[in-house]
Formats: sequence, structure tokens, C-alpha cells
Amino acid sequence: MKCTACKDEAILRIKRHHVAFCQKCFIKFIQKQIIQAIKRYQMFSKKESVLLAVSGGKDSMALWSVLTDLGNQITAIHLDLGIPNFSDQSRQIVQRFAIDKNLPLVVFSLKEHLGYTLPELQKKIPRPACSVCGLTKRFILNHYAYHHHYSVLATGHNLDDEAATLLGNLLRWREEYLQHQSPCLPSDYPGLVKKVKPFYTLTDQEILWYVQQMKIPYCDSICPFSRKASSLDFKKALNVIEDQSPGTKHYFLFHFLERKHDLFPGKQPNGILKNCSLCGMPTTQERCSFCSVLETAQNKSQLFIGKDDIEL
Ligand code: AMP
Ligand code: ZN
Repeated sequence: MKCTACKDEAILRIKRHHVAFCQKCFIKFIQKQIIQAIKRYQMFSKKESVLLAVSGGKDSMALWSVLTDLGNQITAIHLDLGIPNFSDQSRQIVQRFAIDKNLPLVVFSLKEHLGYTLPELQKKIPRPACSVCGLTKRFILNHYAYHHHYSVLATGHNLDDEAATLLGNLLRWREEYLQHQSPCLPSDYPGLVKKVKPFYTLTDQEILWYVQQMKIPYCDSICPFSRKASSLDFKKALNVIEDQSPGTKHYFLFHFLERKHDLFPGKQPNGILKNCSLCGMPTTQERCSFCSVLETAQNKSQLFIGKDDIEL
């Protein structure tokens, strides 16, 4: 098997693009995909400082490495959720990488700042564990980025994640979520930081090859709470179809993104936003979902995160 780009011996084949690459050309391919994604959606420029959410998993570790190699100004933030074993392992990988490469990193401990670890919080809230986790991560990351003046927040979501989310939203016909799904969500209300997903064109497998080729350390344990997550079933279902017809996931996601504006013409994805009466962050309710979660957990209102309460 020959490399499509340089005709040297290839080490891997990407069926959906009908190409094979040697190591050097594969790394160039990944970099090019990122550069094009950033440009296509005007995600950020090299002058902007970007806050990158790093979990310690392969996607965010790869993104941290590749964005740094491409000369972007990246500050990583890792949320230590306090999940036994899993969180310690993830935090150590992230911290070691930051020290080895001399990269700026913020570690935000839930226990320290909220008084609860994620499992402690989940026990008090009558909602699925993954929903409490997702809501907490989204709130803290946006809150931190906003109050520390980052104009962009990047995450490691990839093509498989985005295609699984799309399938889940279609199966439940969640129109509001469908309108909102994009690799780049602009900041359209004070307090909402722009969100970007520069890996949305790359699959799980391609990113796995990248971390292996570049010898990037990552945590390969699965979060114990996510084992029952329906997104994993959607990923599996899409992979069954992908095996039969390579390129299906790619087609499914990209054609949705191209046609989204025709499907939902003139609709406002965020509804009518106002400021949460407790924390001041944007919400469609009187209180944001995160303050409601904290209030339920504590059963009194004094524990909300005020503007300065989570300064590091
Ligand atoms: P997940 O929801 O676990 O698939 O993660 C999706 C993305 O969210 C990751 O690629 C990270 O960018 C971000 N993320 C998830 N967990 C954390 C965490 N504990 N700390 C910082 N970022 C995270
Ligand atoms: Zn609030």
C-alpha cells in the first residue's frame, strides 16, 4: 500500500476519503483538516487566546497538542470531577503533559469550588448522572471562560461525537437542539462565550491513530457514569452502518450542517435569554439549570456561584 501523497510505504488507510498515508503525510493531513475547520467556521485567529477544555481523553489531548504545534495561544482547563480513580488518573495525565511541554494549565476542582464532587452532586439530584455531569461541565467552562476574558472555548468533540448527537436529536426530534448543533456557536448574548469544535471533521479512529503516531499520552478509561449513556449506543449503531458503507457518518453530519439553515430558516436557536437571578449567567428561565441543581443539592440558595466565588 503506497501513500497517496508521497508514494512512500503507507501505514494506514482512510476509506471514507479513499486515501492511504505514510506517517509524515498523515500528520500533515490531520493538521490540514484542523486548519481548514478553523478557517471555514472562522473559529479563532492566532492572535486570540483560546481556552481549551482538556479531559485527558485522546481527543482533547490530541487537540491540545496539534493546536499548540500550529502556533495558537492555548490555555488548557481541566475539571477535576472527583470521580474515584477515573478523575485522579485523568488529572495526572493532563498535569504531566503540561509540565513536560511547558504549557499553561488551570485545574479546577469541583470539590474545592462547589463543595461537592460530581458523584456527591449526582446522588442529590433526581436526574440521569450524565445529564448532571454535562450541565455542570458546560456551566463551569463557560463561566470560567467568560469571567477570565477568553473569547473562545474549544472542546475535543469529533465527527463520531457530533454524528451521534445528531442521530440522538433526530430520533427524539429535538428541534431546538438540532438548530443549535454546530462546530462553531457564536457568542450571541453577553455571558455566552463562543464555542468551537475544531475536530468535527475527524473520526475517533483517525484521532486514535494520531495520538499513537505522535506518542501523545491519554487516559483510555471510560468514565464509570457514561457506560449507560445513550450516546454510546448511537455511536455503535452508526459504526455498524459505517462498516457496511464507509463515509456514511461523514455524509450524515456534513449534509446536515450544510442544510441546517434551509431546514430551520430564520429561527433563533437560543430562544429568549435573560440573566439568572442568582448567578447572572444567561438562561431562558428565572434561574439557570445549574443554580437550580445546586439549590436542590443544598436545599438553600446561598450556595450559588456568584461572580467572584470561583476565581482561582
Ligand atoms: P465528553 O463529553 O466526555 O465526550 O467530552 C467532550 C469534550 O468535553 C472533551 O473533548 C473535552 O474537550 C471536554 N471535557 C470533558 N470532560 C472534561 C473535563 N473533566 N475537563 C475539561 N474538559 C472536559
Ligand atoms: Zn444561575
